[in-house]
Amino acid sequence: MIDSHAHITEERLLPESARIIAEMPEDGLRAMIEVGCDAATSEQAAALAADNARVFALVGTHPEFAADYGKREQELYASLSVQPKVVGIGEIGLDYFYETPPRDVQKRAFVAQIGLAHELGLPIALHIRDAYGDLLDILRANASCLSNGLLMHCYSGSAEFVRELARFDAYFAFGGAVTFKNAKKQDVIRAVPRDRLLVETDCPYMTPVPFRGKLNEPKYVRYTLAFVADVLGVDFAEAERLTERNTLELFPKMKDFFNGSICL
Ligand SMILES: [Zn+2]
Repeated sequence: MIDSHAHITEERLLPESARIIAEMPEDGLRAMIEVGCDAATSEQAAALAADNARVFALVGTHPEFAADYGKREQELYASLSVQPKVVGIGEIGLDYFYETPPRDVQKRAFVAQIGLAHELGLPIALHIRDAYGDLLDILRANASCLSNGLLMHCYSGSAEFVRELARFDAYFAFGGAVTFKNAKKQDVIRAVPRDRLLVETDCPYMTPVPFRGKLNEPKYVRYTLAFVADVLGVDFAEAERLTERNTLELFPKMKDFFNGSICL
């Protein structure tokens, strides 16, 4: 299994992070991607990846912190991305659930980081909430900058929107929320092309059933993967192979590390 989106340096999980990483082999986790949300957490993610064989990193500014995105962040992410285990730019995007920061500030940071990822030749991981209309506008306007791949992290949109995004060759990651009783995401999961499907935890948030309510950890990606396998009508091992392969296709820098002890 690969957890394609985790935040184990978040303050609640940080005291557990050494244990979480040490237990990855016995938990069946071949890899996890630690995701930055601003300059400080991006540096932390890159450092964690450099120090731990099975950990990879994304660096970027989350829409919530878009007001802080500037030249310093741009230069920092560019320099961190030289590291072999920093595999993409994220999480970036639009979150209109809250009123702040203002939408134009979010859009500016989002577009700037799409451009940065393009310059660096890296894929992007998107956090999008309540902003699918503006997302489409921005993707259309920046279509020439998307050739390195894009991932809809914790995808919560509709099956129709999966088809809209297919023309940008998007990948889709599902998290623990799909296992919630009222989520009814089966048709959305089935709408995603099988070679574009990933799983993630977004830990410490979004803990899947049967641990809903507890702090989430990368190992719980197993329950989301089992749910997805069930929806697709394939066995767990096949869903595991599929999502691992898709993760490596989207983040090709990871491929260099999948030999010997952690081969697929
Ligand atoms: Zn996240």
